[in-house]
Amino acid sequence: MRILVAKWPTVTAQVNDNARAVVWTSTAAENLKAYNLERTRAGVLTRTVQVAIQLGRAVALNVTDPDGEWHLAVTPAGIVVEHTLGEPYVDVDDDLMPVKGPCRQCNTPCAITAASCSTCRVEAPTSAAEGLQLLNPSAWSHA
Ligand SMILES: [Zn+2]
Repeated sequence: MRILVAKWPTVTAQVNDNARAVVWTSTAAENLKAYNLERTRAGVLTRTVQVAIQLGRAVALNVTDPDGEWHLAVTPAGIVVEHTLGEPYVDVDDDLMPVKGPCRQCNTPCAITAASCSTCRVEAPTSAAEGLQLLNPSAWSHA
């Protein structure tokens, strides 16, 4: 499957090793904060897939993270693939599944497109929007 990746908008994210991140969309800079880096990364993808869903098409995501820098394309279905900066298309396997991230409450892997967790029912399970995080997630953890 060939996916069109338009130049606009490009989502840019800076992930810090204190599990905080800033995501720049075309309209705003948003702060993310999670219990750990894995959840923050899932939160960045979750925010980006929300933009893709709003637009009904894939969007480019440039991430700088403690482990490096990535240029990705994120589709409204939650597919995340590496993307060469400036290329108008990316080819992806037809059988790719939506990326999953740990539920912010119970750690169950949830698709980044999931409206709620299949285990604990918390809404927006992979979101790391500041203010959504639970204060004591380890009490629920089965990791
Ligand atoms: Zn859960």
